[in-house]
Amino acid sequence: MYDVIVIGGGLAGLVSALELTRSGWSVVLVERKTYPFHKVCGEYVSNEVRPYIESLGVDLNGLGAVNINRFQFSSPSGRLLEATLDLGGFGISRYALDYALYQLALEAGVTFRLGRQAESVTFQEDGFSVALNDTETLHSRLVIGAFGKRSKLDRQMNRAFMQQPSPYIGVKYHIRAGLPDHGMPDHRVSERGMLEHPFPTDVIALHNFPDGYCGMSAIEDDKYCLCYLTTRRNLRQFGNIADMERAILYQNPHLKRVFETYEFLYDKPEVINEISFAPKKAVEDHILMAGDSAGLITPLCGNGMAMAIHGARLVSQVANLFLNGQLSRPQLEAQYQTAWSGLFARRLWVGRNVQRLFGDAWLSEWAVTLIRTFPPLLQTIMRQTHGEVIAATPVSPLPS
Ligand SMILES: Cc1cc2nc3c(=O)[nH]c(=O)nc-3n(C[C@H](O)[C@H](O)[C@H](O)COP(=O)(O)OP(=O)(O)OC[C@H]3O[C@@H](n4cnc5c(N)ncnc54)[C@H](O)[C@@H]3O)c2cc1C
Repeated sequence: MYDVIVIGGGLAGLVSALELTRSGWSVVLVERKTYPFHKVCGEYVSNEVRPYIESLGVDLNGLGAVNINRFQFSSPSGRLLEATLDLGGFGISRYALDYALYQLALEAGVTFRLGRQAESVTFQEDGFSVALNDTETLHSRLVIGAFGKRSKLDRQMNRAFMQQPSPYIGVKYHIRAGLPDHGMPDHRVSERGMLEHPFPTDVIALHNFPDGYCGMSAIEDDKYCLCYLTTRRNLRQFGNIADMERAILYQNPHLKRVFETYEFLYDKPEVINEISFAPKKAVEDHILMAGDSAGLITPLCGNGMAMAIHGARLVSQVANLFLNGQLSRPQLEAQYQTAWSGLFARRLWVGRNVQRLFGDAWLSEWAVTLIRTFPPLLQTIMRQTHGEVIAATPVSPLPS
């Protein structure tokens, strides 16, 4: 019998397992893959959580995280605008960040079941049973559902967002600047100009193309993350990713240049499909959801990872109160749902609405014109999708 079973070992799962173990609870984390591994994600992390992540013991500078404080946006035709980011962020691969948190969790004493999948969760007599895809069944007082955007458990629970098909797919690469023999000229950004080359490391760019957008920003070891969101319809039309990229993404001249002149470091891209941005509940079948399984913000906000980490801190705080006997289960569930919605519901709503502007050729051309005319508008939108920097105090202090 564990105090807590955490299902899913992304940022939300790893941070909550780490926090609750350091608070003295017995925690087992089930993750279907084995660390380290790549994940579809733009890998730009908002500074909202930087002090907190460092306070958990992650040495971001040592991992090679790159500071980012400028934003570039291009319409499908390539019209470009640039702004300073109020809060800014940093670039780090999920391969490195999740692995660093996994190592801290191991050191803290989290028990792991790696390469195993949670198949079903049952709540009975005030406790949980979680059946894994081998013969093992785990038991606990609490379950934290940190299983990301979409999992077979969502189907098992018949969650509302699973009833509607979602048209979105995500594709990600790691790339390195300029093929050496290509001799690209060193363009600077101008009103209607091209991107600087090589791409500056303090910039996150968001390039639109018909029915999608693509983020690009620096990560550790002189690499960049190139990650885009588009629709299944685009893919179906061309049959495979490479042909779709040539036909659709290359329409944006900045993206064409990146695809033609950068070195692509994976054998094949990381791909996920059926990404849903529909509202979800933070508590379902008595499971406390954290990260994307509680709600996924549209990627153009560059804030999903910060929300997953922030949400993990929140779930750890309320779980501590329940495990200590200071909250009953109904109080725990009500408090968590209210606190989660208070922190994140508005951002998710704004993100969903802003996403409507992107990918649509006419609307995103219009958005560039509007923001060039009223530059503060961009900062206002960004502020609506981000929160305050969270306290650099873990729920449970590091053991001395
Ligand atoms: C295209 C795209 C680009 C993005 N770019 C950015 C960005 O630049 N910046 C940003 O902040 N956010 C970005 N996001 C959002 C960000 O990736 C997520 O919000 C973040 O990864 C959420 O973390 P998580 O821990 O909730 O989920 P995840 O990191 O997805 O972790 C869930 C884990 O659960 C495991 N799992 C699932 N089911 C089971 C099961 N049944 N049993 C065991 N394990 C299971 C999975 O293997 C996975 O490791 C982007 C999202 C997309 C789709």
